[in-house]
Amino acid sequence: MIEHWIGGRFTAGVSTRRAPVYQPATGQQQHEVLLGEPDDVDAAVTAAAAAFEGWREESLSRRTKVLFAFRELVNARAGRLAEIVSDEHGKVLSDAAGEIQRGLEVIEYACGIPSLVAGSYSHQASAGVDVFDFREPLGVCAGITPFNFPAMVPMWMHPIAIACGNTFVLKPSERDPSVSGFVAELWREAGLPDGVFNVVHGDRVAVDAILAHPGIAAVSFVGSTPIARYIHQQASATGKRVQALGGAKNHAVVLPDADLDFAADHLSASAFGSAGQRCMAISAAVAVGGAADELVDRVSRKAGEVVVGPGRDPASEMGPVITPAAKERIENLIAAGERQGATLAVDGRGLKVPGYENGFFVGPTVLDRVGAGMDVYREEVFGPVLSVLRAPTVDDAIEMINSNPYGNGTALFTGSGAAARRFQRGVHVGMIGINVPIPVPMAYHSFGGWKDSLFGQSHIYGPEGVAFYTRAKVVTQRWPGEDALTEASLHFPTAR
Ligand code: NAD
Repeated sequence: MIEHWIGGRFTAGVSTRRAPVYQPATGQQQHEVLLGEPDDVDAAVTAAAAAFEGWREESLSRRTKVLFAFRELVNARAGRLAEIVSDEHGKVLSDAAGEIQRGLEVIEYACGIPSLVAGSYSHQASAGVDVFDFREPLGVCAGITPFNFPAMVPMWMHPIAIACGNTFVLKPSERDPSVSGFVAELWREAGLPDGVFNVVHGDRVAVDAILAHPGIAAVSFVGSTPIARYIHQQASATGKRVQALGGAKNHAVVLPDADLDFAADHLSASAFGSAGQRCMAISAAVAVGGAADELVDRVSRKAGEVVVGPGRDPASEMGPVITPAAKERIENLIAAGERQGATLAVDGRGLKVPGYENGFFVGPTVLDRVGAGMDVYREEVFGPVLSVLRAPTVDDAIEMINSNPYGNGTALFTGSGAAARRFQRGVHVGMIGINVPIPVPMAYHSFGGWKDSLFGQSHIYGPEGVAFYTRAKVVTQRWPGEDALTEASLHFPTAR
């Protein structure tokens, strides 16, 4: 039974409801996870609030030491973390290892917290008056995270929140929850005081309890767009600071001057890696000008070469999708695409992996001549399906991207700097790759989309993460004495 982690120990709390946790490659249930009740959320918030009083007072030096120790432990146990992720999510081990590495980079960024929260000082701003600013933590912060990166996405949040002096309550996805308990134990081993990091498992009941809880200062959410919108509305209504990152429809535009082999390689890797279950996966390729047929041929050949199998098999390049429901939904969207007029260049439906006949596998799929009105284009598929669209010019491609409600990521394949510049200035999208298909920013740049891909003002991790988890104070001070002008005036104060 997968239990909550509250106040530095595993506990069932008052939970009685449970959900199955599957091994997607075999289709077998491997665990059960407890589904938290409002009282469990309250217990975690109470523990986090109590721990906040001490943690906020810890010196930057001491916090940094804990962060460094945590970094060492995550690095040392990266292999085990990847195995836990692979078994419950289904992604192949090398992909899971990449997820841990990207999470680790956020921890490394957070190790620099003394300089990240350093304020500025203006000496002698007025006669005998100095002005300086500094940032303080918010209190108890909550994170609500999706299934597709069960280790990395929480690490976009808790290392920075905790480094800034906050305490944290994580509500991970109920589909692959185990890794969060493992991470909690690493935090404790690193010397983090009990109650600073807590995990409450659960479904909507736990989420609603977090949104309603008056003891929570800030909520970070990553997941699908309808839930992101709901989280933003509810958390804002109860006066919480909120950042809610949603879903995506990421386009890659391929210009006629692009290296087509290079583009096809990278397109298939980004469309089919992790079975397309990445918020930055390319799911729509837009071929500009005459290269479309050639591109479809090459991408289709690549799709046919992808080795699909269980995540633990080193030969596998792509694993299963997360649930039978996800598999059915993806296959239905492929069928709808064909029905609505697209050409099925590669069909991944009905794939059976020998020895894993009950696994939730969908093979790489390429749909050509997809139109903007088709369901497979309008909806976020979140599976290994690449739709190919055609546009006469780069401006038409930009217009297509900007007409889409999502604005998470996009990529351009080209050999032209002028086209790249026009593209990066023209698209209404938060993260842009030029000859880079999954432009997930490094830990020291913030991550975030535009439009329906992000609700709230702040992008996540990086400098905007630090700003999100802190608030500023500015002090204007003078010490009456020789230099200071001290006479009072009814005028609005101005510098002298
Ligand atoms: P999801 O929205 O179903 O779930 C996300 C979280 O919300 C989970 O913790 C879940 O328990 C909770 N939740 C689910 N339904 C809820 C409800 N009705 N009320 C309250 N809480 C609810 O997302 P998912 O299927 O786990 O993850 C895939 C989605 O996440 C995709 O849309 C993907 O694009 C998105 N995603 C976005 C980013 C990003 O950075 N923008 C990153 C990763 C994933």
